Amino acid sequence: MDFRHTLIGAVGLPIRENPTGVIMEAAFNRLGLNWRYELFEIGPASLKEALSAFKLLGFRGLNFTVPHKVAVMQYLDDVSPAARMIGAVNTVIREGDSFIGENTDGKGFIRSLRVDAGIQPKGLNVTIIGAGGAARAIAFELALAGTASITLANRTVDRAASLANDIEKSTRCQVTPQALGASDYIVPPATDILIQATSIGLHPDPGMPAVNFESISETMIICDVIPNRPQTPFLQRAALRGASTIDGLGMLVHQAAFAIEAWTGLTPPVHEMRSAVERVLNQR
Ligand code: NDP
Repeated sequence: MDFRHTLIGAVGLPIRENPTGVIMEAAFNRLGLNWRYELFEIGPASLKEALSAFKLLGFRGLNFTVPHKVAVMQYLDDVSPAARMIGAVNTVIREGDSFIGENTDGKGFIRSLRVDAGIQPKGLNVTIIGAGGAARAIAFELALAGTASITLANRTVDRAASLANDIEKSTRCQVTPQALGASDYIVPPATDILIQATSIGLHPDPGMPAVNFESISETMIICDVIPNRPQTPFLQRAALRGASTIDGLGMLVHQAAFAIEAWTGLTPPVHEMRSAVERVLNQR
């Protein structure tokens, strides 16, 4: 019997509740790979040392989550052009002796739009609530995919303005920052896709961003990055307006699928990956 495993690590603080491990193990099993996905709870002070240890121990790949997605970039040998533009890395791929950073969050979101919902973002008007890491990755990938305009509504309006500036410097997309204030946010009427990309509403938080639901029309497609089952409170309210909804599960599965492709060179078994994580999230 061969006891050697190829190792992939997920690094974050906290990391124990992270559902990506279930998705990755389902993929490795289906692909017949003797690979292991291990979770490492590591704080910012130990990040540099941890990277050296992962390299020494021969790890084939890594995932990074909160709070490391930006900080890890300084310790990598190289970063893809898209991840550099986004300014954050969630996936690391080993090439020879080098660790290369990539960001699959925004790519996963767009693949979920295209594959799960049949929506092509080119030429559409998008409104994003939030301007943190997830919003950044999604906004950049949408701009690169030819979205006509993006409105960014964030509690800290300076953060939205800074992201708008970064996107306009590197793409042709028109980006407007707005404040998500004390009164309910009015969704711009020309919006084709509205994306809830804040951390509000992650299980067990029953909250939702302060949005005027009357301003959501049935022609809009409403997305949430949060993968709660069966739906976040935000999506439930939006659905009552007759709008179509897309939850964060597709994004979660497809961002993992991009990583599997990059590490193994194989076609990821998306169906099995999705079923595995659905089973786990349905029990929460
Ligand atoms: P960040 O911490 O980088 O950003 C958080 C965002 O939420 C900011 O825009 C912040 O606004 C906003 N926010 C937080 N609390 C409030 C509040 N009470 N009122 C108004 N705005 C608020 O987090 P990430 O962007 O990395 O992650 C956001 C969520 O996306 C997480 O819950 C994560 O689980 C999910 N996610 C899902 C993925 C998937 O595959 N489905 C992939 C990646 C992330 P401000 O700037 O003002 O602080």
